[in-house]
Amino acid sequence: MGLKTKEEYIESLREMKPTAYMFGEKVTDIVDNPRLRAGIESTAATYELAELEEYRDLVVTQSPLINEPVNRFTLPPASIEDLVARVKVNRVLANRVGTCHQRCTGLDCLSTLAICTYDVDQKYGTGYYDNFMNFLKYVQKNDLTGNAGVTDVKGDRSLGPKDQDDKDMYLRVVERRDDGIVVRGAKAHQTGSLSSHEIIVIPTRALRKGDEDYAVSFAVPADAPGLIHVVGRSTLDMRELDGCDVGNVRYSKYCPTLIFNDVFVPWDRVFLCGEVEFAADYVVKFSSFHRQSHGGCKSGKIDCMIGTALTLMEYNGTTRASHHKQKVIDMIHRAETLYGCCLAASYEGKEQPSGTFFIDTVLANASKIHEGKEMSEAIRLMVDICGGYVADLPSDRDLENPEIGDLVRKYMKGANGVPPENRIKMFRLAEKLALESADIISDIHGGGSPEAHRVTIFRETDIENKKRAARRLAGIEE
Ligand SMILES: Cc1cc2nc3c(=O)[nH]c(=O)nc-3n(C[C@H](O)[C@H](O)[C@H](O)COP(=O)(O)OP(=O)(O)OC[C@H]3O[C@@H](n4cnc5c(N)ncnc54)[C@H](O)[C@@H]3O)c2cc1C
Repeated sequence: MGLKTKEEYIESLREMKPTAYMFGEKVTDIVDNPRLRAGIESTAATYELAELEEYRDLVVTQSPLINEPVNRFTLPPASIEDLVARVKVNRVLANRVGTCHQRCTGLDCLSTLAICTYDVDQKYGTGYYDNFMNFLKYVQKNDLTGNAGVTDVKGDRSLGPKDQDDKDMYLRVVERRDDGIVVRGAKAHQTGSLSSHEIIVIPTRALRKGDEDYAVSFAVPADAPGLIHVVGRSTLDMRELDGCDVGNVRYSKYCPTLIFNDVFVPWDRVFLCGEVEFAADYVVKFSSFHRQSHGGCKSGKIDCMIGTALTLMEYNGTTRASHHKQKVIDMIHRAETLYGCCLAASYEGKEQPSGTFFIDTVLANASKIHEGKEMSEAIRLMVDICGGYVADLPSDRDLENPEIGDLVRKYMKGANGVPPENRIKMFRLAEKLALESADIISDIHGGGSPEAHRVTIFRETDIENKKRAARRLAGIEE
């Protein structure tokens, strides 16, 4: 109990027995599978940082709930300072792992539930807030990682949940029992579900009368009976299994599709069940929190790209190329604008009736739109600076080959004095940063597709106030 060390976190996953498949085969050694382990190592960095003197003050804080020090990834924000810290921790972590650390989504769910369960109880006299607070205590006391089970597979996008031919296209309650509920469905793109102790489910969209079975939120252990993790492909995944040419030597990301094949949830783990009008609130709060998390994280990832570009300038002998300097500046201002927008979303946050703080949704969504466009621009700038070997570098195995190794090394030489091996490593990192599909596609779709950000921005912006200001300036009487 209490804060886990990195090793304790990894051992705690070893004790779990989730059902998982990858590339058509059942995986039983989750923690020792190289592909999954690289993802687990990314999440493990959130535990490691809590142990390191340099970062402890940022990552560890006191929980008013259990009166003990906890990792920030288990703490719903109780102040503006907590909202700001979310952004800063995510930037530091992205700098350290160069990919997604996968623990922010769980915190985004905890933060959402700390607000929404209270509001539902106020209207209906339900006991969701107590259920949630007991769950939160358990998460904090054991320093657990949560996964966000939000995105349903959704079937035909033109139809709502109950109008689908197959009613399981959105996760739903299929049985209500005295001791709990049974749920069926599938959640897509479940970042780090096998690096998590708990799967936290919330609805994926607004729901209407008649959709009661779909208005469900709960938490179950990642190895609950009936849960099946089907690990998705990513562009560089075989290299991790192969142990060669991985680019980022320690860390990676994977996103399973998670099938809920009639999973039992006890009532004390249920956080919403049937109150349809609150589904929108759950998903909007989650998405907004998550879009803020993204901004911190992705500004940190641009930092990694900047470091890679600057190092390859040294290795290639282009440090004096003035257009490279300009391009680095263009990368820096993109990272800082993203970071600044998320910090602003935090500073403009407000306390909610439950006492938990919520960010400014317009600013958080504006930052995500910026990310969706500007991350690809940052990648383009990095690739421009680095050169074509981001695309088609010879393998490390060619360097080891007794017949061609020396020749390949000879022609991989860059600036004088730079070992060719280092230049090769840096090109590989650039390739990973630019082409790891499991991470870069999240710049666009993670936390909802761009149109969802735009809709939220328009809905949450005070349009009338802007019109009033224009009328006043134009001299139009109210
Ligand atoms: C790398 C990655 C990691 C992710 N991690 C997680 C995670 O940990 N947990 C989680 O729950 N989710 C996660 N997501 C899921 C993410 O939130 C979704 O990808 C996103 O919400 C879009 O949903 P979709 O992929 O089903 O695409 P779709 O919803 O099919 O959207 C595709 C396009 O169609 C448009 N569209 C869809 N429906 C309509 C409609 N009815 N009318 C008009 N236009 C429509 C969209 O605007 C978009 O342009 C992750 C996604 C990625 C890519």
